[in-house]
Amino acid sequence: MSENILYSEWFNVAGLRSVINALSDADGGPRIVGGAVRDSLLGLSVSDVDLATKLVPTEVIRRLEGAGIKSVPTGIEHGTVTAVSDGKNYEITTLRRDVATDGRRAVVAFSSDWKDDAARRDFTINALYADAHSGEVYDYFSGLPDLEQGIVRFIGDADQRIAEDYLRILRYFRFFARFGKGDADPDAIAACAKGVHGLTALSRERIAQELTRLISLANPTLSMKLMVDHQIFAPFLPELDASAAERMASIVDREVAHSLPVSLPARLLTLLPREAAVVDRVSARLKMSNRLREQLAHRVTGELPSEVNIREIAYRKGIGCATDAATLYANSIEFELCLARLVNWDVPTFGIRGGDVIAMGVPAGPMVAKTLQAIEQAWISDDFPAIDNFLSKSRQIVGALLSATKKA
Ligand code: ATP
Ligand code: MG
Repeated sequence: MSENILYSEWFNVAGLRSVINALSDADGGPRIVGGAVRDSLLGLSVSDVDLATKLVPTEVIRRLEGAGIKSVPTGIEHGTVTAVSDGKNYEITTLRRDVATDGRRAVVAFSSDWKDDAARRDFTINALYADAHSGEVYDYFSGLPDLEQGIVRFIGDADQRIAEDYLRILRYFRFFARFGKGDADPDAIAACAKGVHGLTALSRERIAQELTRLISLANPTLSMKLMVDHQIFAPFLPELDASAAERMASIVDREVAHSLPVSLPARLLTLLPREAAVVDRVSARLKMSNRLREQLAHRVTGELPSEVNIREIAYRKGIGCATDAATLYANSIEFELCLARLVNWDVPTFGIRGGDVIAMGVPAGPMVAKTLQAIEQAWISDDFPAIDNFLSKSRQIVGALLSATKKA
């Protein structure tokens, strides 16, 4: 691990350089902080760049404007201004100290001491700074060795840091899933377990957002297991399925084996029993979007997926739904068979319309829709043949239906 990020590609992009130049003077410049430094040191790609500065927010805005860079006061009460430069956003936060906290939000005071700013951050690996000009890394709480060894550790006393902001419990498990190696820090785990009741004080949106980020990671299995063992889900997800951790492990294995992309609805459903009412209640509680609620509902309703019905599920509810349903609910043999039925299969469209069945002799009126449904179901049962090859069977179905109606 090199302790300088000067040679990272993102560090030298023009949009970022002009923000940095606007915020630099004889007293020095801003520093890059947090995820960008951490991820760069690990050789991972960086998408968001956050900056820390001694300049107060009004001065940050004044200088950005002076340099012709758009600024948005996105979190001005916490000292954050967002610069929009070359189409990219950069969050610039004035060095600060948290003077009062109530488990949800902090009252802040600006500071000119980098170490104050580092001390209010959550984990040692998240409190690394890099000089915006030289790339030199500053580490106030042994984040570098922790990063190297895969230790996710609270800065300061874990109990106290959690009591300041209970969201840090979920953040801990998210960062452990991403960067942890070996066993989790026992102090951190004990403090998370002890503070877990505090999660009830947080807004459901914040919980849902953090939970979503955690379970969407490539492999949240170890964190999930720790969370289940320490009842971290209890305050916001009492419906948690008893085998949630094993199910998460199993779907991650299936995704990897078949290079399937991470699916948020599938990941969420590993946590819950396959019961539509429960899933809907949880979706409402965690204020999920209508689209996500519908995706979840599609996956838990209807027949269990199998080789026989998987294409019908894909046809009626989409290929993503069918893949998720198989990943979640099919046994391992059926799962392979289901995927084999879906791979390289384009979901066809049903090519017969009302006018076609009228031309076959069905009187215009309510019988048209009924006949179309019967033909469509037969076409699905025959495994979606090309419509031209299905016309004579369609005529037979029409004939049978017409003679049945005449008899009645
Ligand atoms: P990611 O790649 O997930 O975005 P990140 O480190 O950038 O990782 P963010 O959640 O974007 O994480 O937060 C940016 C930085 O702000 C963190 O690295 C950390 O220093 C600090 N931070 C964010 N949330 C908290 C919190 N609740 N308590 C303390 N520090 C926090
Ligand atoms: Mg970030």
